Amino acid sequence: MNNKIDPRKIAEELQKAKFKGIPAAEVLKRLRDEADAKAIDPKKENAPAGVGTAGENNGTPIKQGLMGKAKSFAEAMVSRGLNDNRAAPETVSLRVLSCHGDPDKGLPPCPKRMDSVKFPGSYYCGACGCGDKQLTQLTKFETGGKIVDYTKLDYPKVTCPLEMPGFTNYKSNQENAKTANDRKQFIEFNNSVDYIKSKSNP
Ligand code: SF4
Repeated sequence: MNNKIDPRKIAEELQKAKFKGIPAAEVLKRLRDEADAKAIDPKKENAPAGVGTAGENNGTPIKQGLMGKAKSFAEAMVSRGLNDNRAAPETVSLRVLSCHGDPDKGLPPCPKRMDSVKFPGSYYCGACGCGDKQLTQLTKFETGGKIVDYTKLDYPKVTCPLEMPGFTNYKSNQENAKTANDRKQFIEFNNSVDYIKSKSNP
């Protein structure tokens, strides 16, 4: 099943749960279960309005043209500079959550994250259109007998097609319904949009 859960509904439910101290993972599971029930019987009472099925709402990646990609790449390279400048640790932590998730907290990896073929054990973003290259790896990797620990997540300025937390072009679920998704909602619930904004594009 692949229906979407209305991000506004998720935001509303998470807000209520926050006051009551209910974990976000519990709320998301309930919404998915309710969506499942509604998919089986669309007339079922108590199914939340605007909720689809248990399918994840993964959002729709923004597509950049050639010029946009070149601009983003140039900005990332300039921000790295000649001295391998790095984003702040808090920023990188948010990006790690966005791309790799946190299994201990029930946050799965981004569905756009792809296994690298060129650098086994590493990953690259399958949505940005840059492919599986040395400069696009999302984790440290080995090449030529050396460990490269400067990854795409370390650049002071770097963008994400889903405008996820930690990335320079971050937009909250409320700000852009197109890229809104369940995983972003989860991270926003556990951190706060203001905090994420201050770390994503300081
Ligand atoms: S950069 Fe964005 S879209 Fe790509 S894997 Fe990371 S979170 Fe997903």
